[in-house]
Amino acid sequence: MTVGSTFPSTMRVAKETVVAIEYTLKDDQGNIIDASGERGPMEYLHGARNIIPGLEQGIEGLVAGDTKNVLVAPRLGYGEYSEKLIQQVPLSAFGANTPQVGMRFPAETNLGMRFLTIKKIEGEEVTLDGNHELAGKTLHFDIKVVSVRAAELPELSHGHPHQAGGCCGGGGCGSGEGSGDGCCSAEEPAAQKQGGCGSGDCGCS
Ligand code: ZN
Repeated sequence: MTVGSTFPSTMRVAKETVVAIEYTLKDDQGNIIDASGERGPMEYLHGARNIIPGLEQGIEGLVAGDTKNVLVAPRLGYGEYSEKLIQQVPLSAFGANTPQVGMRFPAETNLGMRFLTIKKIEGEEVTLDGNHELAGKTLHFDIKVVSVRAAELPELSHGHPHQAGGCCGGGGCGSGEGSGDGCCSAEEPAAQKQGGCGSGDCGCS
C-alpha cells in the first residue's frame, strides 16, 4: 500500500491542478514572516505563476496530506535586492497627497508596473524603493498540501482558482483601478506573487 492511497484523492500537484496549502514562511533567522494561519489554506492554480517559482517547484508532485520544507533562494523568490530600484522624486510629485514613510503604491517604472515603498522623506526629496520587501531573502516555507483537484476550464482561462460563488468568490476582482496586486483583498499573502491574480485580467463580470 502506498502512502497516497490512504487519502481520498491521490491526484498529484501538476500543471492545471488547483492546490490548497497551509504554510508558514520564515526567514534565515527563523522569524515568522507570514503564515496561512487563520486566513485558512491558500489556493492557487499550479503552473500559472500564481505563486513564486521556487515554492511552486517545491510543491510539484506532492499529494494531499504531504508536508514539506521548501527552501527558496531569492532568485526563485522575490529576486535579488537591487539598488537600481531605489530612486528619488520631489515631494511635489505627490500633488495633494501627503506621502508617509512605509506607504506602498503601484507605479509605472522603467521595469514595468511595480509596487514602490516610501523609504525616506527628507525636505523636498522622497526616496522610493521598488524592491519587494522580501527581495534578497532566502525563504523557508513549511507547507502542508490540503487538497489537490483538477482545475476547471474557466479557472484555466482566467489563470487563477475560483471559489464557490464564481470568480474571486463573487467579490469582483482587483477592486479599484491599478490595484494589480491580489484579486480579492488588499493584503496579499507573501507566498503569492505580486500581481498574481489580478494582473491577468480576471474578466469577472
Ligand atoms: Zn477569474
